[in-house]
Amino acid sequence: MPTRTLPWLALANSSISRRNLLKGGAKLSAALALGGIPSLLHGASKRLSRLQADPFYLGIASGDPTSGSVVLWTRLASEVMTAANATLDAVDVDYEMADSRTFSNILRSGSIAATPELGHSAHAEVRGLDPDTEYFYRWHIGGITSPVGRTKTAPASNANNQEFRFAIASCQQYEHGFFTAYGHMAAEEFDLITHLGDYIYETSWGKVRVRAHEGPEIINLSDYRARYATYKSDPDLQAAHASAPWAVTWDDHEVDNNYAADIGEDDQTPEQLLKRRAAAYQAFYEFMPIRLPIGRQGPSMPIHRRLRFGNLLEMNVLDTRQYRSDQACGDGRKPSCAAHQDRNRTLLGSAQKEWLKDSLATTDATWNVLAQQVMMASLRSLNKSGDELWPMDIWDGYPYERQELLEHFDQVKTPNPVVLTGDIHSNWAADLKLDFDNQSSKTVGSEFVGTSITSGGDGADMTDYGKALLANNPHVKFYNAQRGYIAATVTPTLWRSDYKVLQKITEADAPISTRKTYVVEAGKPGVQEG
Ligand code: FE
Ligand code: CA
Repeated sequence: MPTRTLPWLALANSSISRRNLLKGGAKLSAALALGGIPSLLHGASKRLSRLQADPFYLGIASGDPTSGSVVLWTRLASEVMTAANATLDAVDVDYEMADSRTFSNILRSGSIAATPELGHSAHAEVRGLDPDTEYFYRWHIGGITSPVGRTKTAPASNANNQEFRFAIASCQQYEHGFFTAYGHMAAEEFDLITHLGDYIYETSWGKVRVRAHEGPEIINLSDYRARYATYKSDPDLQAAHASAPWAVTWDDHEVDNNYAADIGEDDQTPEQLLKRRAAAYQAFYEFMPIRLPIGRQGPSMPIHRRLRFGNLLEMNVLDTRQYRSDQACGDGRKPSCAAHQDRNRTLLGSAQKEWLKDSLATTDATWNVLAQQVMMASLRSLNKSGDELWPMDIWDGYPYERQELLEHFDQVKTPNPVVLTGDIHSNWAADLKLDFDNQSSKTVGSEFVGTSITSGGDGADMTDYGKALLANNPHVKFYNAQRGYIAATVTPTLWRSDYKVLQKITEADAPISTRKTYVVEAGKPGVQEG
């Protein structure tokens, strides 16, 4: 795979002249202490005096909490930087953390450089925090203060914590509806919000559109930045970011529909797709509250990582797009073909797979989550002549690697594996079987698939598609194709998933209700009606 230096690295490195090193000495040592976030490696950064307009209108966010740290995020609006004559400058942004929304007791403060190379995004990893503690944060620049965000650190890794509440979201095509689900999610003040991808869409699709993207299909860094800015301007999405820390991963639409490693959807050479991927991945980092991924180079950016919430729960955040083999048999729902039977095909890539298997073999957490994109339980269908069709984009398209993983759950006795999935714009609950062709085979895990926030429009409770798939796949217990999110409440003895749905997302302000609850009892793999 060709490597290419990402623009941020090239520019950040070129700015480390000896002069800048001396000038920016204090900042540089801070940067090294934090693992060398390139935005901090920029030489001198500028302190802006009074700004005329609000630079924080893309919102604020926090994410990837550990027991002692959290990442705070914001991004300064480019028009405001232009008006302040700072388009090409690194500028200092100040942050504060407190124990209440009044900020009467400020516990932490500092400043971070927002650089033009990273689109004036700011990521501050604040360390030395107390475990399992709620904090409030805000940003300042040029006399302007951002909205206030709430965040929460993880419990200590050996804590005997008794409850963890988090939301599971995915797939938010901006044109298809309002992000009302996020308004409801914000009100719940979760411990965490996990986003499983399709945070943006690279292109328009579908018949019903209640609002418009800012342009056609996106290719370059400036296009991806503009698309994220459109999405980030949504008040409900901003409220959800301000309500809790997030753990994000990407799916395909952050780059290109159904891309596989360096293979795109339409006519693109691998080289073109990799160039596009580099732009898309950089924009993802710029707009998300994550630590700068270690090992990024050119179009490669490893984002799989592990978050731990006491003894109760460990979350393996996965990436099933960057390393995957191309979809077999021409993608879509197809009869099996020779490529589909190739045992070397992979969804995770070998490095991520070995990392995950090691994690699942050594964990001592009660619940072990795979936060990933595509459905793992088999979801085969039959065509009119009775031939079996395999959905090639999901785990059914990679049956040998799925088998390897499910057997691994069983062999290493991973405590309570729970797979969380987005991607298909519908709710499902499923048993993960050692042999999906034999319903009496062992159930080795549980899967909750969460519906979209908006993608696909208003949807329906039941569809012919859902009925047919439930009938053909008895290990799948529940289907619903309305919009919403899953609210998960996890205790040492029970995992509870509440499927929250809205009647409509094509009209603003729809109420939300719990359509169904499924649970998993600790020590008893498989989903049960709650
Ligand atoms: Fe999607
Ligand atoms: Ca997808």
